[in-house]
Amino acid sequence: MNIIVLGPPASGKGTQAKLLAKKLALQYLEMGDVLREIAKEATPVGREIDRIMHQEGKLVPDQMTRQVVDDWLKKMGTKRGIVFDGFPRSLGQFKILEELLTPRGEEIDKVIYLKVSRETSIKRLTARRICPQCDFEYNLVTKPPKNNELCDQCQVKLIKRKDDTPEVIELRLKTYQQLTHPLVKYVRQRGILTKIDGEKSIEAIHQDIMERLKS
Ligand code: AMP
Repeated sequence: MNIIVLGPPASGKGTQAKLLAKKLALQYLEMGDVLREIAKEATPVGREIDRIMHQEGKLVPDQMTRQVVDDWLKKMGTKRGIVFDGFPRSLGQFKILEELLTPRGEEIDKVIYLKVSRETSIKRLTARRICPQCDFEYNLVTKPPKNNELCDQCQVKLIKRKDDTPEVIELRLKTYQQLTHPLVKYVRQRGILTKIDGEKSIEAIHQDIMERLKS
């Protein structure tokens, strides 16, 4: 089964997609993470991606995401089923994914859409912290570290993600409205959308997703 997890920034898609992949023993692709690694590279492409992600709050060009997914699918080889986290995020990217899956005899079976309000998105993004050492993600409200603002594993002071500034948050929300929201509408029409209330606790949302996948 191939599942896409969609939602506005800080809807919890990363957390839920990881839980889902673990529970169903599926492979997992987190687009944001792959792109963040590329953005660290001291190359023209790395610098361009860094600017788009961390200053402009836009989506990186489709041809780049196509390459990432194509390479990743080839490397994975097997057909165990995949949870796609943060890809596709536009109608164009959805078509790209279909083009890449069709020759493998695969399709997109479900799209999980985590619905949260704009206010929740902003509140969560403002409270998000990451460990600079292991990249583990915390949220001071919904997923706090045990000790002050220190990583539970590394005991290192947590930091804010580079694109979690008020200016870039605003731009990312705009990008979501312009490009990702139309995709949600499209997959609803195709009858593969499962809408989930993303305002609940992490565990409650996971339970809801598992229930809905059974039906
Ligand atoms: P995320 O970690 O999902 O919040 O994504 C962080 C940033 O990575 C986004 O704001 C985009 O700049 C970039 N990004 C993530 N996924 C995609 C995608 N599917 N297409 C283009 N850019 C993406």
